Amino acid sequence: MRFATISGRLHQVIAPGRVLDLNTASGGRLPADPQQAYERWDEVLEFAAAGGVSDAREVPEESYENPVPAPRQIFAIGLNYAEHAAESHFAVPEIPTVFTKFVTSLAGPFGTIPVPPGEVDWEVELVAIIGRHAHRVPAEDAWSHVAGLSVGQDISERVLQRSGPAPQFSLGKSHPGFGPIGPVVVTPDELPDRDDLELGCLINGEQVQKGHTRDMVFPVSELIAQLSAVTPLLPGDVIFTGTPSGVGLGRTPPRWLKPGDELVSYVRGVGEMRHQLVAA
Ligand code: ZN
Repeated sequence: MRFATISGRLHQVIAPGRVLDLNTASGGRLPADPQQAYERWDEVLEFAAAGGVSDAREVPEESYENPVPAPRQIFAIGLNYAEHAAESHFAVPEIPTVFTKFVTSLAGPFGTIPVPPGEVDWEVELVAIIGRHAHRVPAEDAWSHVAGLSVGQDISERVLQRSGPAPQFSLGKSHPGFGPIGPVVVTPDELPDRDDLELGCLINGEQVQKGHTRDMVFPVSELIAQLSAVTPLLPGDVIFTGTPSGVGLGRTPPRWLKPGDELVSYVRGVGEMRHQLVAA
């Protein structure tokens, strides 16, 4: 099943551009607020599976917003693909490298991203959304705590990220618009292999990243096990799971995003985001 936020309300996506408002369709039983809906994800899935589609309506897909607009916690994983660690001149980590993107950096799957001064880079990522409270969850049970998957960009300003005696991952990756997510949340059962998805991004039509989630150092299940060993994961929390190789930092010479660029980011079978970079 697929879900999208439209006008701030959670919708089931019956077909591309054909959506059902779950709050009105359920007679007010299910919450309209997407973040509240993740708290009651089993009920959402049960209602959506029953297929009450007669109230569905057509909307342009460009009207889809961030399907997880206000998570209480955002986890992001650095260096989770060996080739990306190599292009960044880091060793492959032995435990996940964890930082956050502050919630005001989140954005929708379409529209503009302001480019601040500095070296602004792209990082397409698979995003996992938590649908069931997870604390000290073993890897073999981890997928049952995932509401769904989406596409994300971990846009990063490299000068600030690398400044100071210890790296500033969280701040350098948290300018407004640096965390777009969308266009939909796809339940893992929709995918032929939830652990092997192609992801990539294109700048002005040129493919700059293309990878496969099977190459993650720590797959989604292991990330949930290791994160939840320390901190409970809450319904509606977001995990940016790391980027494959092909970022601007790893190029000779390096390449950065600039106003006027068009950035297309996808996870095959999940969806595609489209953004225009604009002057900040
Ligand atoms: Zn990243």
